[in-house]
Amino acid sequence: MSLLSVENLVVRHGLLQAVRGVSLTVERGETLALVGANGAGKTTLLRAIAGAHQAASGRVIFDGTDLSGVPAHERVRKGVALVPEGRRLFVQMTVEENLLLGGTAGRPGDWSVERVLDTFPNLKPRRHAKAGHLSGGEQQATAIGRALMSNPDLLLLDEVSLGLSPLVVDRVYASLHGLISSGTTIILVEQDLNRALSVSDKVVCVLEGRVALAGDSAIVSRDEVTKAYFGLHRKGAEGVLA
Ligand code: ATP
Repeated sequence: MSLLSVENLVVRHGLLQAVRGVSLTVERGETLALVGANGAGKTTLLRAIAGAHQAASGRVIFDGTDLSGVPAHERVRKGVALVPEGRRLFVQMTVEENLLLGGTAGRPGDWSVERVLDTFPNLKPRRHAKAGHLSGGEQQATAIGRALMSNPDLLLLDEVSLGLSPLVVDRVYASLHGLISSGTTIILVEQDLNRALSVSDKVVCVLEGRVALAGDSAIVSRDEVTKAYFGLHRKGAEGVLA
């Protein structure tokens, strides 16, 4: 049984259908990269999986449980954690306080402030600094750490690279590699296609709210993903499922 199964999900913003019947699965321990142009529906899809946005129809099955109607805070307790676009830290609180707050939202497990600081060593000297005084990379690490403190089975990462310099993005991804190799299940939204393909097991490209391409990251080519990204893909091509 897949850890996550999204079935024919439809999500609206008022009259706009931002997600139009998306289906996908994620196995335990897998990393799935969600790619697509601006406005394709990636953030809306992640938020609907996390319960931050109510789906209009379709189902999100997590670890065998249908999450329809389950509010976001309950999903965190079941093991789904979202790192939102823009990080949304409590800027007047310290790194440690933000992390501890993440712990109160979740469930018991192995994650602790010390383990987060080991995972993101750049945060160690910033432990008692206010989040509002951190660099972009440090803020991103704190946001991911806060989500990890809830001891998730599934980590949803929305554009962790946004607004960071290439060097800092490399550092954040180096830490993510540790998480990935320790078996954390991740869905990540990433604009850099090369990075998305190299870090993930599976890739799903969304176009105008629909899955335009889904396949193994090791099999699909960057060219195929680029075509799907711009709506130029051919149905039936290798690795193209939709
Ligand atoms: P980006 O890469 O720009 O974040 P995305 O793929 O994450 O894009 P979404 O943010 O999910 O896309 O947006 C999908 C569609 O829904 C877009 O047409 C967007 O304008 C619209 N949308 C997103 N949020 C809202 C909102 N709060 N109210 C109304 N429409 C929205």
